[in-house]
Amino acid sequence: MSEALQRISVAPPVLRERGQREVFCGLTGIVWLHRKIQDAFFLVVGSRTCAHLIQSAAGVMIFSEPRFGTAIIDERDLAGLADVNEELDREVTRLLDRRPDIKLLFLVGSCPSEVIKLDLHRAAERLSQRFMPNVRVLNYSGSGIETTFTQGEDACLAALVPEMAHTTERQLMVVGALADVVEDQFRSLFDAMGIGPVTFLPPRQSAELPAVGEETCYLLAQPFLTDTALALNQRGARRLAAPFPLGEEGTTGWLKAAAKEFGVSDEKFAQATAAGRRRARHAVGAQREQLENKRVFFFPDSQLEIPLARFLYRELGMELLEVGTPYLHQEHLDCELPALPEAVQLSEGQDVELQLDRCRELKPDIVVCGLGLANPLEADGITTKWSIELLFTPIQGYEQAGDCAELFCRPLRRRQVLRV
Ligand code: SF4
Repeated sequence: MSEALQRISVAPPVLRERGQREVFCGLTGIVWLHRKIQDAFFLVVGSRTCAHLIQSAAGVMIFSEPRFGTAIIDERDLAGLADVNEELDREVTRLLDRRPDIKLLFLVGSCPSEVIKLDLHRAAERLSQRFMPNVRVLNYSGSGIETTFTQGEDACLAALVPEMAHTTERQLMVVGALADVVEDQFRSLFDAMGIGPVTFLPPRQSAELPAVGEETCYLLAQPFLTDTALALNQRGARRLAAPFPLGEEGTTGWLKAAAKEFGVSDEKFAQATAAGRRRARHAVGAQREQLENKRVFFFPDSQLEIPLARFLYRELGMELLEVGTPYLHQEHLDCELPALPEAVQLSEGQDVELQLDRCRELKPDIVVCGLGLANPLEADGITTKWSIELLFTPIQGYEQAGDCAELFCRPLRRRQVLRV
C-alpha cells in the first residue's frame, strides 16, 4: 500500500450545503440487490411512480419472472378507506403461493407508505410468523424523503444483521454488494494469502447469511454502509480501516488491511497480489493518456465520489475541481481523504443551483452526476458521466481497474466524435 493511503493527516476543508438536492431514492438499490441475492424478492409498498421508477431502472422484459414488484397504494388506501394491512397480506400470500422459489421477502417502504404511516416492521413480523420456515419476511425503507439512492442497499443490509446467527469463530467478512465475478476474485486472493474463513454480506442465497460475533472483523467494500457498519459493531464485529477497493492502489490498501489483521507476511502478500497489481497498472496505464490533466467535477449522488476521485487523481492524473458527496463519513473515509490533493474543494450535501453555478464557471472537461442533471449539463456542452453506472458496472478489484477508468474515457471520446 502506498504511504499516502496509510497516512492519517488533516483532511481538506469541506463545504457543507443543505439546500435543494437532485438525487434518486433508495428504491434504486433493488436493481442490483435483486441480482445479488438470488432467492430474495423485493416488494415495494408504494405508488405507481415507485413502480415506474423500478421498472424503468431495471429494464425488465415482460416475459421474465422478475424478483421485485410493487404493491400499489392507491387513492382508497391514501384516503384511509381500505385496510392496507389486509390488502398487503393478501398480495404477499398470492405472491408466495405463485413463487415457491422465494425464500427471503423484503417489504420495501416508500414515500407513500411513510406518509400514511404504514408500519411495515410489524407487517414483516406478522408475515414472517405466518410463512416461516419457508420464507423469512423483513422490511426496510427505500423512501426518497431523506435518502440518497445507495442508502437503499445500506438499509437492506442493516435489516439483515439482526437475522445473523452468533459465532465465536474468527473470520473476515466482506460487507457490500459486489458482482459475483469480483467476489470470486477477492476470495481467491484471500485464499492465496491464507486468510479465512471469508464470508460475504449480502450472500448469494439467503440460507448463506453469514454469522457474526466478537471475533468477526470486516472490510467495507462500499463507502455508503453507515447503518450496516453500526449494526455489525453492535453485534461485536470490528471494522478494519482501509481505503475502498477501487484502482490498483485502493485494492492493494484494502487487501493489505486484512493481511495485517491476519498476520500475513509482506512476502506472501506480495506473492499473492503481484500479478493482479501488474495487470491493473497496465490496464489503467493504457487509459491514462486520455484522462491525464482532464478536469473533473463530482456532483453528490452515489457516495462513491471520494474513493473515485482519489483513483482518478492518483492513478490517472486527473485534476479534481470539486468533489461533492451526499454524506461524508470521516471515519469510513479516513484512509481516502488524506490521499486527495490539499487544494481540492470537497462538498457535502447540496444546494443544486449554487453548485450548478460553480460547475458552469469552472468549465470542467467531465462532470460525474445523477441522471437528472446530466441532460441540462450536456445541453450546455458539458460532458457527463452518470454516477449510477458506477453501481451497475463491476469496478472493484485489480481486474476491473481498467474498466473503471474506461467508464470515464467513453463520454470524452463520444464528445470528441460529436465535435468532429
Ligand atoms: S419512494 Fe418516493 S421518491 Fe422513490 S419513486 Fe417512490 S415516491 Fe418517488
